[in-house]
Amino acid sequence: MFQSALITVFSFAIGATLAKIDERNFPVDHIITKDVAIIGGGASGTYAAVRLREDFDTSIILIEKKPRLGGHVDTYVLPNNQTTIEYGVQSYIRYKGATDFFTRLGVDILPSNQRRLTSVNVDIETGKALTGYTPPTPNATTEALQRWLTLLEKYEAFMEPGYWNFPAPNSIPSDLLVPFGEFAKTHSLEDAAPRIMVVSNVGLGGLKDVLTLYVMQAFGAPITRGMLAPAPDGLFVPDGSNSLLYQHAYTLLKKDVLLSSYVSEAERTNTEVRLVVQAPDGEYLIKAKRLLFTPPPSLKPSLQSFAVDKKEKEVFREWVPTWSFVGIMNIPCIPENYSIAYISSAAVPSDHLAIRDYPYTLRLDSTGPSGLGLFRVLFGTNFTITTEEAKQIISEDVQKLVAVGTVNYTGDCTLDFRAFADHNSVLWPLTSEQLRQGFVQKLNALQGHRSTWYTGSSWCGHYSSNVWAFTDTVLPKLLKGLKG
Ligand SMILES: Cc1cc2nc3c(=O)[nH]c(=O)nc-3n(C[C@H](O)[C@H](O)[C@H](O)COP(=O)(O)OP(=O)(O)OC[C@H]3O[C@@H](n4cnc5c(N)ncnc54)[C@H](O)[C@@H]3O)c2cc1C
Repeated sequence: MFQSALITVFSFAIGATLAKIDERNFPVDHIITKDVAIIGGGASGTYAAVRLREDFDTSIILIEKKPRLGGHVDTYVLPNNQTTIEYGVQSYIRYKGATDFFTRLGVDILPSNQRRLTSVNVDIETGKALTGYTPPTPNATTEALQRWLTLLEKYEAFMEPGYWNFPAPNSIPSDLLVPFGEFAKTHSLEDAAPRIMVVSNVGLGGLKDVLTLYVMQAFGAPITRGMLAPAPDGLFVPDGSNSLLYQHAYTLLKKDVLLSSYVSEAERTNTEVRLVVQAPDGEYLIKAKRLLFTPPPSLKPSLQSFAVDKKEKEVFREWVPTWSFVGIMNIPCIPENYSIAYISSAAVPSDHLAIRDYPYTLRLDSTGPSGLGLFRVLFGTNFTITTEEAKQIISEDVQKLVAVGTVNYTGDCTLDFRAFADHNSVLWPLTSEQLRQGFVQKLNALQGHRSTWYTGSSWCGHYSSNVWAFTDTVLPKLLKGLKG
């Protein structure tokens, strides 16, 4: 009697932890069994899906919360005119298999050809032209980037692609753990700082105290080579819109993709993964041997439904959110062909590392066909902010330009947000002490834990081509032991 009661209690406990998701609650045509379930259909998830299914003969299901693939690729299509304007991802680095990915999906590529704009730096606090600040010349920037590249190449194998070969805690080179302000001074890198910050968004709130490791992570060897290389070896763009790549990928993968869908419950063990997915046509049960998680991992919201355990929590609780937004605005009061960079007055007269010594950053770049008054907006903060609050600050800062006479305009400057998207993410800005306690090793140890693998820009260099190259290193590990 006692024994049978014990067995009942014990099996109930097992049931509660391992088999909470009851298969009998799902109609047969809403139970999907696959080798790999992929969460997120941005750059890394889409790439992984194509490679796993087409090159490794592996069955997949891709779950994406938006109604389209492509993640940070945002294309604005002009009404009544099929002209497209990119306001998210702009161009790509020729790194590892990046160009092959475009070729296999039937998208031609061209060298990137940046439009030349008249640059104006304004004081982010007042909106007045910051004439006292002298930015580095193009030649000085190039020379500093060349010095930066030499230093990056010394440590490239530790960081690209991904941190698989990152040195043991007690052997991390001291260069990586010094604040960038100090490192830049030692190696005369100051003239490269504005380019590094504008392209990568690193150093919001102040670059000088950021560890050199994180600046190398944000603006590593592949992007630096891409910036320095002359056409046709430099950055490239698709012939057509950036969204084409993902539209072609969707056509290929369609039957294995659930769009506008998210995981509401998950069970992960060392042998299988079971996910309850909320999709537009109802609830699905996904049974897979492996999970590939690609969105920026955060305890809330992206991993919230994945029943994170202690080992995972210990790593992910250290990651902090970042807030950045991109959009297209009609701004009648700024002349076309202008680029307005809002920077900190701490940079006057030429402290290039100080241009982002402010809690937020804003940049407005003229874009699109002439005569339409369109600007690409880039806005980022180092504090929590909603989309509406972001739009409010941007609008006020544009109006400041008129109020203080930085732009010559009389009448109402009526602003219109034509498109706006958040590109929020996460970073792991750990201290040198935490890195010396083995954080990167703990990060790598999560790969494969509870049948779950990770890729995406939080795990490697932050650009699409880095993410694809890193994914190529994860897939063989994920596939090991999967078949048979
Ligand atoms: C403003 C800006 C400009 C950039 N410009 C460039 C550039 O010009 N060139 C370049 O190479 N890189 C650029 N990048 C970097 C590029 O965007 C990233 O390298 C790339 O998007 C990373 O891909 P990913 O798969 O890691 O993430 P993402 O592309 O963000 O994909 C993650 C996907 O997961 C989905 N998702 C999130 N949570 C869930 C969930 N719970 N369930 C299901 N799906 C979910 C998201 O909707 C998204 O589609 C830029 C980044 C920013 C912020």
